Amino acid sequence: MNKVKLNEPYEVGDLVVYLTDDNLAYVSDYDCRYELTTTTTSCDCCTFIFRSRVDSKFQCRHIKALRSLLGLD
Ligand SMILES: [Zn+2]
Repeated sequence: MNKVKLNEPYEVGDLVVYLTDDNLAYVSDYDCRYELTTTTTSCDCCTFIFRSRVDSKFQCRHIKALRSLLGLD
């Protein structure tokens, strides 16, 4: 696995992922006004909040971007 540096912006598809911790990232989305706080299992975007109520394993594209950056998927 490539070592991902902390506090460096990485472009993952349409997203910019900025890792602040081994498990916590700030994610900027092209159509979002706010930076999202994303971990490998949670995200504060509306899609995740909505979908995770009915599917506890749901991964939004921010979680997927973070997981792929970390080499988890
Ligand atoms: Zn999300």
